[in-house]
Amino acid sequence: MKKKKISLFLFIDAFGWEVKQRHPDFLNDLIEDSKPLETILGYSSACDPSIISGLTPAEHKLWSSYFYDPEGSPFKWTRPLQILPDFIFRRGRIRHHLSKWIKKRCGFTGYFQLYAVPFKHLHLFNYAEQKRIWNPGGLPQGETIFDLMSEKDIPYYAHDSAYPDDVRIDNLKKHLEQQTIDFAYCSLGKLDGLMHAVGNDHPDIDELMKWYDEKLRVLITTAEENYEEVNWYLFTDHGMHNITQAYDLIPDIEALGLEWDEDYIAFYDSTMARFWFKNDNARDSISKLLEKHAKGRILSDDELKKYGVFFEDGQYGELIFLMQSGMQIAPSFMGVNPCKGMHGFDPTDPDSLASLSSNRPIPESITKIQNIHQLMLNELHLN
Ligand SMILES: [Zn+2]
Repeated sequence: MKKKKISLFLFIDAFGWEVKQRHPDFLNDLIEDSKPLETILGYSSACDPSIISGLTPAEHKLWSSYFYDPEGSPFKWTRPLQILPDFIFRRGRIRHHLSKWIKKRCGFTGYFQLYAVPFKHLHLFNYAEQKRIWNPGGLPQGETIFDLMSEKDIPYYAHDSAYPDDVRIDNLKKHLEQQTIDFAYCSLGKLDGLMHAVGNDHPDIDELMKWYDEKLRVLITTAEENYEEVNWYLFTDHGMHNITQAYDLIPDIEALGLEWDEDYIAFYDSTMARFWFKNDNARDSISKLLEKHAKGRILSDDELKKYGVFFEDGQYGELIFLMQSGMQIAPSFMGVNPCKGMHGFDPTDPDSLASLSSNRPIPESITKIQNIHQLMLNELHLN
């Protein structure tokens, strides 16, 4: 016997509107309605919590991964390890194991990566996504759809990030066959990883979209065999730009002759540099340099407010410098080498746009990625 209804929220990381336009065959006969969605300035660490809560990063307090917080840093215990030579920490495999070990030692359940943060600076920073956001209580501030569902005892499936995409899809399929859930949220990461490596228009992407097409058709058919009503939404958090140039911003800052941790602290993301100042001289000279810097621009408070990423207390930086679209900071604290594709540029660029498709009509009011939360509430009759 079929169960009454299932709502499937299927998330393909970086399946932006422009990428979708280049793959018109993807699930085409099954899609009833689709539209571009405005993204949020930043990375998945900012977008994903917004999708599941309906809140902006300023409201749920998760934006970039790392922020300056020497007192609250969970990494203070790493200080004695600084005596080890630097090259050890630069090796990819060592960093991978180190990430796993630090995650365990700090008790983090969220997505954690050491990336290329200089080990000697780690004790100055705190890490934002310490908890698994797909679990109830996952946000520093505010509630997610998972908080609501656990309060209401609604049985749901949420992907486990430890597994690859095919296992995540298979696990969801099993739940559908056993009719154990009313709601599913399944995030798939392969496309994002591929486009970081090859750019946003490489032939390999066609192959992967065909693979997703097949897998998702089987999944949807399984849902239809087991539920009378199947509503599915396929969406993403952001698009992908091709990288046109790598730029090493760090020497420009260092050439000012300011003292790290005496005058200023910086965190270099892939597309943004964020600064905290210890004195006015440091603030003035870094501001002056970046105001006329050809490779990017300082974001005004108004702009940050418009994007929902203005933090009154400067948690994620007192000055935010955004690179020109297509230009990646490399090396940065997120990676030594540039990628072929990157996101986290100006959210108003066509390549930044997210996408939403469904087998149901999409309400007019859904225009931003955080509005997907409203769709979830609608599906569960929780509004
Ligand atoms: Zn990515």
